[in-house]
Parts: sequence; structure tokens; C-alpha cells
Amino acid sequence: MSNPFRDLPSVEKLSASLLGHSHTVAVEAARQAIEEARNALKADKRTGDIFERAAILATELERPTLRRAINATGVVLHTNLGRATLAESAERAIAAIASGHATLETDEESGGRGSRQAHCATLLRKLTGAEDALVVNNNAAATFLAIAGLAARREVILSRGQMIEIGGHFRLPEVIQEAGAKLIEVGTTNRTRISDYARAITEETALLLRCHPSNYRVVGFTEQASLKELVALGCESGIPVGDDIGSGALVDLAPFGLTDEPTVKESLAAGANLVWFSGDKLLGGPQCGVLLGRTEWIQKLARHPLMRALRPDKLTLAALEATLRIYLYGEPLSEIPALRRIARPVEDIRVACERVGVGDIVETVSEVGGGSLPGLSLPSYAVAIDTESPALLARRLRLREEPIFGRIERGRFLLDLRCVDTQEEEKIQAALTET
Ligand SMILES: *Cc1c(COP(=O)(O)O)cnc(C)c1O
Repeated sequence: MSNPFRDLPSVEKLSASLLGHSHTVAVEAARQAIEEARNALKADKRTGDIFERAAILATELERPTLRRAINATGVVLHTNLGRATLAESAERAIAAIASGHATLETDEESGGRGSRQAHCATLLRKLTGAEDALVVNNNAAATFLAIAGLAARREVILSRGQMIEIGGHFRLPEVIQEAGAKLIEVGTTNRTRISDYARAITEETALLLRCHPSNYRVVGFTEQASLKELVALGCESGIPVGDDIGSGALVDLAPFGLTDEPTVKESLAAGANLVWFSGDKLLGGPQCGVLLGRTEWIQKLARHPLMRALRPDKLTLAALEATLRIYLYGEPLSEIPALRRIARPVEDIRVACERVGVGDIVETVSEVGGGSLPGLSLPSYAVAIDTESPALLARRLRLREEPIFGRIERGRFLLDLRCVDTQEEEKIQAALTET
């Protein structure tokens, strides 16, 4: 009887059959295919065509796992799909400096050293009227730095209604503790008054913290002290007020139904000493965290030893600078993809569904997402596909070279086209029509 193990090709022979791949990739794929076949034989299972399998493995090895994808989920700021997508000018700004040297920390005038923070700080000051600005890696880093820099070994007062968890183990009470401060909880989950804060102030109080509950909403019998009240109390007692507004809306999005979202301007106007937010939520830029406030506070944070670990890289700063320039000199609602998608007329989305021309066109609702604006939904349209197994179709689309993400609703597979660009419509059409 022939020995099936003996019939397996050698690594050399199998790898030589893998044309168009580097030697290293061909050998790794061949070894893996042979190993899989051996394991199958040991388990008395059938083996498929080992040459075909090795070719698939070689292709997979060469393909990056972090790839561009099409977001047909209807969630504009989808955290798992990379939140905000960048404006064209921000993409160009990254490309322009990615493979070259850059004026990151130079002062062209004197030829001496400059600050990497200056590029965006100048624009942020102009845009918001804040005295000074600081950019860090994300909003979690901004929160951490603000607390570590202003309240280490002292007390931070926070309402029980604002003890948020953002997800991914980011829980505000734990962050406060890790930043070396003591959390003083006041009020209750649904009601906290300014008098609760006032009573909690001691010699040790270093910060009155307000945090926007981005991803949940407390409704019914509720009350929270306003930022104005907190600022008045802070002034009276000489304690700074910090405001984590989460999304960092720089334009008023109320005309699109986003009425409850705190804007940067409102928070500064109310007198918060330090305001911070994400760069890749409603601001529509790269992942980063932005802190704004009085020079005194900002420079204190800029000098903190943690700053070195939290500082953003040049690609982030290039993308943020380009994005901020749109707010100053361009048309944010049309040039910044996140805002354009939020503002996109529903009729435009219906026409896009017609262009795709596959399946049924159904009314649906999109979400802003990214932990912003819970419960807020934007009317939208989707291409709906009836299939025996929506889960199988969803998987097939996810496994493509350029994965397509939709969602399953009431037994149908939906592709909400709100966040799908025109060039991507054809790819969706092709994916749905190929067998
Ligand atoms: C999203 C969010 C954060 C975390 O921001 P990242 O940029 O994801 O680190 C912190 N606080 C609030 C209120 C948020 O909405």
C-alpha cells in the first residue's frame, strides 16, 4: 500500500510551483501547506489539492491584514472601520511628508529648533479663539494628561452621572486613579446639582471635571450642573474646570439633527479652563486628542514628562493641519468626509442605490456612531439583498480583497450607501453580481 505521507511534494518542489512570489513567501507557504496536509492525513481526513492550497496561502501571506475597506454599515464614525476618513487635502498632506524629511521641529527663519505643536496650535487658536492648544495621540491621552498634569496626588470632582466607559477598558474613574488623582464622586446617576460640587470642595480639590456622556443618555428625572455653573463655582474657589467634550464639533451640526452635541466654541465661551476632544470623531481628522485652554494650563501640560509618551507623530500632525485649514479657509461640510456624510441629502443616497441597481431599495436609518450622539439616527436608504443566508453573503463580502461591510436586518442583508463614495458603488455592484 502506498504511504500518503510519502506522496506529499517536497518543500522545494512545492515552492518552485509558486510563481510570482518571493522565495521567502513561497517557502513559507509551501511549508504551511505541507504541514496542513500532514495534519489532515494524521486525522484520516481528505487533503485537497496541495498546490492550489499553497498558492492561496502565498497570496494571503503577501496581503496586508490592515486594508482599505468599504463602509456600507450606515455608521458614519465606525470605530472598528477606522472612524473618520480623511479629507483629500489631509491625505495629500500625509503623502507629501511620509517618505521625505519634514519641517517637523524646525524654525525656518532662524534655522534653529521649533515646536512640532506650533503647526496646529496656531490654526487652533485662530479657529477657536483659545489662548493655546496641545495635540496628543487620542482623547484618552488628553484626559490622562489633563488629570495627571493638573490634579496628581490631589482630588478631582466628577458627577456620578458622568462616570463613563468609552469601551476598550477606558473607564473614567480608573483613568483618574491611574493618572494619580483621587476621584470624588458627587450627586447620583440621574441628578447632580451645583451644590453637590460645592459641598465636596476641600483644600485638596484640584479640578472640577465635566465629561460629555457620548455613548449613552440618561433620560427622565434628570439634572446636571451646567458648565456655566461649574465655571462660576471654579472661579469662586480658584479651581480650574476641565471639560471632556468627546467629539469636538467645530461647526454647528444642529441643522442635521445633531442638537445635543457640545461644540468646542460653546465650551470655551462658557469659560472652561481646559477643553479636550478627539480628532477623529466629529472634527473629521486623524486619530488624535486636542487640548485647548489658557496658555498657563496648556504649557504646564506640554512640560509634563508624560507628554513625550503621548505626543503625536508627523503624519498625524500633517493630516490634522490640513483638516484644520479646511475649517479656516475651505468648505468643511463638503470637504470633510464625516461632515459631508452627515449632511448628505437622503435623496442623494436613494439615487446612489438606484445606480448600484441590484436588490431592492429600502428606507433605513444611519447613525453617527463613534460613541457620539446615542439614539440619533439619520434617515437613509439601503440596497437590500434577499438571500437564503445573509450571514454567508456578509462573510463573502468581508473576505474580499477590499472588504465590504454591511449589516443584517430582519433576515436581509443591507448596504446603506450613506458612507459609500461614488467610485465604491461600482465595486459593490461588481461584488453583488459576481457569482
Ligand atoms: C471618544 C471619547 C473619549 C475617548 O477618545 P479617543 O479619541 O477614542 O481616545 C473620551 N471621552 C469622551 C467623552 C469621548 O466621547
